Amino acid sequence: MSHNNALFARARHHIPGGVNSPVRAFGSVGGTPRFFARGEGAYVWDVDGQRYIDYVGSWGPLILGHAHPAVLEAVMRAARNGLSFGAPTAAEVDLADLLCERVPSMQQVRLVSSGTEATMSAIRLARGHTGRDKLVKFEGCYHGHADSLLVKAGSGLLTFGNPSSAGVPAAVAADTIVLPYNDVAALETVFHEQGDQIAAIIVEPIAGNMNLIQPSPAFITAMRTLTEAHGALLIYDEVMTGFRVGPQCAQGLHGVSPDLTCLGKVVGGGMPLAAFGGRADVMAKLAPLGPVYQAGTLSGNPVAVAAGIATLQEIDGPGFFENLEQQTANLVEGLRKEAAKQSVSFCTQSIGGMFGIYFSKAIPTGFAEVMTSDRDNFNLFFHAMLEQGIYLAPSAFEAGFVSACHGSAELETTFVAARRAFNQIQQKMQ
Ligand SMILES: *Cc1c(COP(=O)(O)O)cnc(C)c1O
Repeated sequence: MSHNNALFARARHHIPGGVNSPVRAFGSVGGTPRFFARGEGAYVWDVDGQRYIDYVGSWGPLILGHAHPAVLEAVMRAARNGLSFGAPTAAEVDLADLLCERVPSMQQVRLVSSGTEATMSAIRLARGHTGRDKLVKFEGCYHGHADSLLVKAGSGLLTFGNPSSAGVPAAVAADTIVLPYNDVAALETVFHEQGDQIAAIIVEPIAGNMNLIQPSPAFITAMRTLTEAHGALLIYDEVMTGFRVGPQCAQGLHGVSPDLTCLGKVVGGGMPLAAFGGRADVMAKLAPLGPVYQAGTLSGNPVAVAAGIATLQEIDGPGFFENLEQQTANLVEGLRKEAAKQSVSFCTQSIGGMFGIYFSKAIPTGFAEVMTSDRDNFNLFFHAMLEQGIYLAPSAFEAGFVSACHGSAELETTFVAARRAFNQIQQKMQ
């Protein structure tokens, strides 16, 4: 038995499902998850010594690749001075300055330890600031696992949300209104009918948790104008897109100034760190200044902050995002060509260092369309690539990530593997 299989069997004794986050279990693609022992640059090695080109990057944080020397050095320097104080440090002030300088809509920021904490806190703040309870979110957008956000669409347009997880009280879910992504008319109707009860819209400004879905310009504009007109807040959940799609996040690309922004993943450089921030008058409602409570024993942890600062400094380098964007575009274009050669129904798109691959005829614009893509073909592709040392996200509904370490050699290897994988799909179709 391989070490991977033995470890997975052992893991299931004391860890539910053998994993500490569900998608890791390979549930939707089948097979045994890889247990990783080491990562360097664009590569990871599993416990059996098999090497893979990694297009997951810890689900987004590792924009500089694995074990980047500058990040490691910063982490080790910070660790030698002590792991945690539960008291202010100079480094967290530096990181707050860096974030507010880079993202103009963030006048103030608070550091937390996970994206879930950032969105949960931002929503509490929006409710405390507006004195309203209702929240608008969009079908297929993931904002972490706080109760009020674990809600998917009901059947009708204005149906109140039903919890999509057991253990979420119906009363909590009832305050979450779920609308289809990119549906301007639905958004207008909801604000027309209940605008005075809505605390906030929370949105992934470029959706990356139902594969990659781009917002239409009309949708972006409608969210900003409707919230403004009805006294609600606009929360950009940029936990995934922040410093991944560009130096000023998705809001920089859209030219939108949200009231609050949530960051995570890249800002922690691979350590548990996230943040939420925005308008100074709203942030002033937070304890200790204001009535909205929010806290954390490890918030602003000096080792995590060191990783974040080092990462942000590296991505400031000249041409960083231009190169990353070009390399990511080269990747998806190469994959598209290989699929076309084998006449497999397949399309792609990319933005910054983020990409989507779809086993469908057209690029989807929302959750319903994503769900119609060919899941069997994805699973076949996933396993064919995995066997050839290419590690993709183990689900057809996740975005992929490229790091600054993915060079033309890694792309070429990926194309060669993809040629065989698409060929297997083509043979199955005959
Ligand atoms: C990953 C993610 C989260 C949750 O962050 P965690 O650190 O996993 O809690 C929230 N929102 C978005 C958009 C994400 O991609």
